[in-house]
Amino acid sequence: MSPTHLATGLALATPLAVVAPEFAVAGAIGGLLGGAVPDFDLFAGEHRRSLHFPVYYWVPALGFGVVALLAPGGLAVGAALLFASAAVHSIADWFGAGNEPRPWNRTSDRAVYVHALGHWLPPKYWVRYDGAPEDLLLTVVLSVPALIAFDGVVRGLALAGIALGAVYVAFRKRVPDLVGV
Ligand SMILES: [Zn+2]
Repeated sequence: MSPTHLATGLALATPLAVVAPEFAVAGAIGGLLGGAVPDFDLFAGEHRRSLHFPVYYWVPALGFGVVALLAPGGLAVGAALLFASAAVHSIADWFGAGNEPRPWNRTSDRAVYVHALGHWLPPKYWVRYDGAPEDLLLTVVLSVPALIAFDGVVRGLALAGIALGAVYVAFRKRVPDLVGV
């Protein structure tokens, strides 16, 4: 679910708080954006395909990573984290359920589309469905490093993500009826 992807993006940015604290907030913002962006294809295009790139997101991630190393700056660091987080998000969806509105039914064999291979990966169900209790556990665990390393707005966003996730998990199975799918 989105809060887990957001927490993952924050976790990816957390080492910056130690090695380059002046860019940590930029990295955290990039990580959060990259965790969120792929799922915008829920609203336009084909979910888990149009904005999910398990392979190709690594190209700009590495490119901006190199730029950030050669000429450190908040923009390059943020962009590198954005694309790395989007790449990890795209891969992580493989370990959940398929791209159906009621994923606990397990009727979809489409977890995420790999453009580089030209086919869908079947779901692994390590997390049974987005918004399952174990998904919330993941959100909490992945938020811990950021809660320790950051303060202020970033810590607040991490806490808000956990709260949002808890509400989503509580109502997950009613969501398809509420949005009419
Ligand atoms: Zn996704």
